[in-house]
Amino acid sequence: MYAERVLSGMRPTGSLHLGHYHGVLKNWLTLQHQHPCLFFVADWHALTTQYDDPQGIVGSSWEMIIDWLAAGVDPTQATLFIQSQVPEHAELHLLLSMMAPLGWLERVPTYKDQQEKLESKDLSTYGFLGYPLLQSADILIYRADKVPVGEDQVPHIEFSREVARRFNHLYGREAGFDEKAREAVKKLGSKRARSFTQLRTYFQQNGDKTAVERAHALLDEVADLAPADRERLCGYLEGTGKMILVEPGALLTAASRMPGLDGQKMSKSYGNTITLREDAASVTQKVRRMPTDPARIRRDDPGNPDLCPVWQLHQVYSDETCQAWVQQGCRSAGIGCLECKQPVIDGILAEQEPMRERAQPYLDDPRLVREIIADGNRKARQLARETMRDVRAAMGLDYS
Ligand code: SF4
Repeated sequence: MYAERVLSGMRPTGSLHLGHYHGVLKNWLTLQHQHPCLFFVADWHALTTQYDDPQGIVGSSWEMIIDWLAAGVDPTQATLFIQSQVPEHAELHLLLSMMAPLGWLERVPTYKDQQEKLESKDLSTYGFLGYPLLQSADILIYRADKVPVGEDQVPHIEFSREVARRFNHLYGREAGFDEKAREAVKKLGSKRARSFTQLRTYFQQNGDKTAVERAHALLDEVADLAPADRERLCGYLEGTGKMILVEPGALLTAASRMPGLDGQKMSKSYGNTITLREDAASVTQKVRRMPTDPARIRRDDPGNPDLCPVWQLHQVYSDETCQAWVQQGCRSAGIGCLECKQPVIDGILAEQEPMRERAQPYLDDPRLVREIIADGNRKARQLARETMRDVRAAMGLDYS
């Protein structure tokens, strides 16, 4: 089997906001300590909808990478790279396009949705239709078995799984596969070989997944089994042939609805954001100008925090004592709105402080960021090349 890997990407949108931090980056910070992680700038994905206005992509990419680093993404733990700098993604996308049925792409739920949402743009393009396949190539090229996604993105992961399954089915049948697999079974030793064969038969006759799990556990016990034999045996077990592309799994991330300055979800398109490294004066001013419960017109009108966007931010930034103070003070008109907003301002500034500090060396010397990315591009490319060697060979394109 292949090493476990997490892959996650972001389109370059320029400066990130606190919604990105709470919704995505905090999760990356945890993951980078748990698994080998690859985090990438999806600049080609930006072109699928922004093909007529590509000028800002490079600048936005660098800006976004500095925000990743500012948030605490650690390049010594995770590999950071830019999609277009690993051209193997495009090659795999092209090769997958040879076998991906058109109907699969047209049925991806976001295809029609996005076209309708972005109706001011002409998205009847080949690139836009194919973007889920490009996304599959991004994942499959690293044999990433874990992709952090929200509930709404699960269909995309399922799509990638189907693509990998179809690929393995079409091209995973190397010449003499059954014979090679039987030889590999013998290498397990007679007792294990017997158990493996029984479990395989049991699975293929009854479809019992626990038999597959037990057979995998048995393979894990054999430390000196060559990787190629291990892959063959996995394919032989489930009747799928040799596994060349790994079916990815969705690593479901809890939905985070970071409230914006108006109470709606924080989003650039709503104009209600605070950026990760926004200066303190601007943060203070934005929060002080936030709308509050419309019923609190005068200082001595009691309010209802449930109807106030500021309360939503208290739920992110304030501890229980402070939240109790807001509830009591608001409902009894014991506190004023500006007074109530101060702990939110303090909480945001405290969260941003280390981010500004971490970003400073990269702002002072942009070469540091370029070196990190050059190193990440190199590492990612090495992994991508390994997969492409197998993919080309499986598709009959090995000219060596
Ligand atoms: S006191 Fe606080 S929660 Fe109540 S309306 Fe004013 S800002 Fe909102």
